[in-house]
Amino acid sequence: MIAGRQPLRMCLYCRRRSSKDKLFRLVRSEDGNLIWDRSGKEQKRGYYLCKHLACVQGIAQSRKSAVRLKREVQEQLTAFLERQDGSGESD
Ligand SMILES: [Zn+2]
Repeated sequence: MIAGRQPLRMCLYCRRRSSKDKLFRLVRSEDGNLIWDRSGKEQKRGYYLCKHLACVQGIAQSRKSAVRLKREVQEQLTAFLERQDGSGESD
C-alpha cells in the first residue's frame, strides 16, 4: 500500500479520470443495464460515472454507449446530486 495514492477510475461518459470518491460506482444488472452499486461492494466489474449531472444525463441519453443506465438509476443519481447541491459540504 502506498499512502496517499488513490487509484483513478475513468468516467464512462466524459472519460476523465478521478478518484473513486468523486465517482458513482455502477455494475451491470442481470438484464444488462447499469445499476448503482451504492455500497461499492458488489463483486462485479465496476463502471464509473462522475458525480456531475452532465455525466449522469449524458450517459442516460447516449445512444452510442454500450452500457445503458436504467431510468430509475438515473433518477437515483440525479436525486443524490440534487440533495448535495445547496446543502453545502459541511451538512
Ligand atoms: Zn464524467
